[in-house]
Amino acid sequence: MPAAFSDPIWRKPQTASAFQFETPFGLLDTVIVGGGIMGLSTALHAARAGLSVQVLDAGAIGQGASGLNGGQVIPGLKYDPEWLIRHFGNERGEALVAFAASTADVVFDVIRDEKLVVPFTRNGWIQAAHTETALTAAANRNRQWRARGADVELLDQSGIAAMTGASGYLGGWLDRRAGVIDPLSYTLELARVASAAGARVAEQQRVVKLAREPGVWRISTQGGIELRAKSVVLATNAYTDGLLPGLAQTIVPLHSFQIATAPLPADLAASVLPGGQAVSDSRRILVYYRKGPDGRMVLGGRGRMALPSSAADWAHCERALIRLYPALAGIAIEKRWFGRVALTPDHLPHLHEPEKGLLAVVGCQGRGVGLMSALGKRMATYLASGDVRQLPFPLSPIKPIPFHAFRQVGVAAAIAWYRMLDAFER
Ligand SMILES: Cc1cc2nc3c(=O)[nH]c(=O)nc-3n(C[C@H](O)[C@H](O)[C@H](O)COP(=O)(O)OP(=O)(O)OC[C@H]3O[C@@H](n4cnc5c(N)ncnc54)[C@H](O)[C@@H]3O)c2cc1C
Repeated sequence: MPAAFSDPIWRKPQTASAFQFETPFGLLDTVIVGGGIMGLSTALHAARAGLSVQVLDAGAIGQGASGLNGGQVIPGLKYDPEWLIRHFGNERGEALVAFAASTADVVFDVIRDEKLVVPFTRNGWIQAAHTETALTAAANRNRQWRARGADVELLDQSGIAAMTGASGYLGGWLDRRAGVIDPLSYTLELARVASAAGARVAEQQRVVKLAREPGVWRISTQGGIELRAKSVVLATNAYTDGLLPGLAQTIVPLHSFQIATAPLPADLAASVLPGGQAVSDSRRILVYYRKGPDGRMVLGGRGRMALPSSAADWAHCERALIRLYPALAGIAIEKRWFGRVALTPDHLPHLHEPEKGLLAVVGCQGRGVGLMSALGKRMATYLASGDVRQLPFPLSPIKPIPFHAFRQVGVAAAIAWYRMLDAFER
């Protein structure tokens, strides 16, 4: 692969500190496998609760989805409040709605309370509708969240055109609880404050074996390190490997590709997303976009399942950008990168505890910045208290997807089909 694409964390500051392994003393409370937002949020809150914590990541901090993503901090789940209550019943459903409503708050609270150095804006997120069906869904969502006092608003055609500067939308939904962060800064800063709070964070430490001994877990790394802990949390999401048998087969990992333009000239910058909101549009294969803190336009969308081999693999993102903003046609695309997102068949995150003290969380559905920050906080409370009611989702058995090996082929075919439907609806 060309070097330009093999360095997904091109924005990592040269000054960022490396997180090195130091031998801990004795039995740990928790070892966390995976140093993305989920693992680091769990580590920070667990350390604040007084637990001894070690985070181990196979690569560099920020190299998973957490450092690569679109930076959109969106509250809520894929499902609306009424669906959650129908599906989970009144008590758990209402608790889930409250949890879903709070996920963006968790991000902005931690930035404020822990004094994270993270570029951010909190001016909302727009779900843009390009068909009448999408507009009806937006109106329905708006009604349900407004009934719960959320700061949300339905946008008409002229309203959305003014906020996005993009053409082609019939309307949309503005959720002012949402915002935009720089994802790599957020992840690195979470690692920094988790360390400052007493958690140990180590990069380049792939965990290869978990073994149960009476009352204790033994954790072995590829480099031969052995740790002992009362509990283990797998926070590996779309990068889940074979560490816990069957877990990788419970998710469908998809690639999401992104491009960033050169910093926009002032006149163009003023006409594109003047309020600094993030946008996801309603096409089946959605694209999402925002302006970065350095004035670049950043846009992402689904990408091919195979590893990219040339800039042409990002051409669909470039076409989407020009379709939305024809005035950007002459602006150079300076960066291209991609990462992995984990989907579950029911589009909900899955929490597992197949054996006492062995926990796993997978299935961010491409919305993990808020969700994993909030789930990590709840996971830390569960670890500290043992009270399972602290977890917003029920613990479920690990159920591999039938015919998982063929799943990727099905996903690739579905993506091609949906792209074609979207093209006809343009
Ligand atoms: C391109 C892209 C755009 C996205 N845009 C958005 C967005 O705008 N808004 C939003 O909310 N969400 C977005 N998402 C989703 C979001 O980034 C993820 O949901 C979130 O970052 C998941 O965090 P995580 O900590 O669970 O997983 P990750 O950040 O992926 O971390 C998992 C870590 O586990 C490590 N690991 C795996 N196996 C092992 C092992 N055996 N030993 C040690 N370590 C291991 C990996 O190295 C990795 O660092 C996007 C994702 C991508 C890829």
